[in-house]
Amino acid sequence: MDNAQDTRSNSGILGAYLARTPGSAKLAAEAANLFPSGITHDARNTDPYGIYIERARGPHKWDVDGNRYIDYFGGHGSLILGHHHPVVNKAVADAYEGGSHFGANHRREVEWGQVVQSLVPSAERIRFTSSGTEATLMAVRLARSFTGRQTILRFKGHFHGWHDHMTHGYTNHFDGTATTGVLPGVAEKSIVVEPGDEAAVRAAFAANKDIAAVIIEPTGASFGQVPVRPEFIHFLREVTAQNGALLILDEVVTGFRVSKGGAQVEYGVTPDLTSFAKIIAGGLPGAAVGGRKDILDLLDFNVTKAQGKEKIQHPGTFNANPVSAAAGIAALSTLDATDAPDTANATAARLRDGINEMFASEGVPWACYGTFSGFHLFLNPKGRAVDPTKFDPFAVGQDELKPNSPAQANKLRLALMANGVDISGRLGGFTSATHTDADNRDTVAALREATRMLRAEGELPG
Ligand code: PMP
Repeated sequence: MDNAQDTRSNSGILGAYLARTPGSAKLAAEAANLFPSGITHDARNTDPYGIYIERARGPHKWDVDGNRYIDYFGGHGSLILGHHHPVVNKAVADAYEGGSHFGANHRREVEWGQVVQSLVPSAERIRFTSSGTEATLMAVRLARSFTGRQTILRFKGHFHGWHDHMTHGYTNHFDGTATTGVLPGVAEKSIVVEPGDEAAVRAAFAANKDIAAVIIEPTGASFGQVPVRPEFIHFLREVTAQNGALLILDEVVTGFRVSKGGAQVEYGVTPDLTSFAKIIAGGLPGAAVGGRKDILDLLDFNVTKAQGKEKIQHPGTFNANPVSAAAGIAALSTLDATDAPDTANATAARLRDGINEMFASEGVPWACYGTFSGFHLFLNPKGRAVDPTKFDPFAVGQDELKPNSPAQANKLRLALMANGVDISGRLGGFTSATHTDADNRDTVAALREATRMLRAEGELPG
């Protein structure tokens, strides 16, 4: 196997990629006349073009040229049961058979809410939305309305969707200025501090009595690419309560993944509000905000009337649509019954170890790290002396963990795709409960070959 792959090293990364993907190239040329950058999601920005996928099963997907990939995008984290899970599939087909939108209440939304609440007890009340962006938008609106305060405290590099309150401080505008198209007044009401920095959080509360809520990705930015320790989440729980502010855990990624009940159950922290998306809807569009009844009561017609408060309006054509509800019920019940998060976590741990052993044996000065069912590649931009098997991301700054050189990252991705593995552009991914040891082994082999190809092109020392 190594011999066959060594031959590919000689063809060059771009050449190997182009030779495998003529069908994708053709579609990309058509897409270039339709979509900005030819893509429909920023994460798909690939030079010269990304792959076009035709179908997917379990941990694998196949492009229009018939190439198979081990998939670590996992539906951007929504597919912990893998692609095309039979139970989810049947539930979706059955629901669609009945009709996709009734303009009315339906039994599946009740069942969906019940299964969410059974897994995440802090969700005393739930409101379904169509995307995680909408869920964090609603969480922030609830927090501001409930507390009568305006400012939201966020963390550098943490992603909470693309609405106006969440844009600066994610990949740019770390100085607090508004990103293009966002009103400066909106940006001013959202302050961003270093994750993990208790002193900075305390100082923010001391200086600003207007903080309505703190929102955080509980395992760290981008599912722990820049990790935060569980103690920091406990600290945030305390400091928000002390200061009359709310704690919003953004469990769009971690929900139903870190554990059945998400990071909050795993860590034993009860937030005031939680945003959910991805796994909650079983791979279809769907999301929710859940939390304290007295806060979500701001969406309740009768309670707000009785309390003399203004109700927060919340329509949304596809809220809790029956097909997404069916997928969500099937996925959540199945992951609960099968301990899918534990399986995916164990697979990722073995994958991280396998990659690091390979890096060590190949003399590659990189490292693979992560927690739960995630992995991230550290490409060592400052040329540190690294023992991949002992790498500690807490010893390295955010600037080294996150912004890998886009050109190098792109080349690594092309090399990996040329060897049948698809990871995200931030250089990491998710395992599902369907990834096997054979997938791990093939992934390590593909990454070994990719590093050799990079070395052959002078992109890696040694
Ligand atoms: N929060 C987090 C932590 C996310 O990872 C994402 C999406 N990747 C969102 C919010 C936004 O969710 P959506 O893409 O469904 O709008």
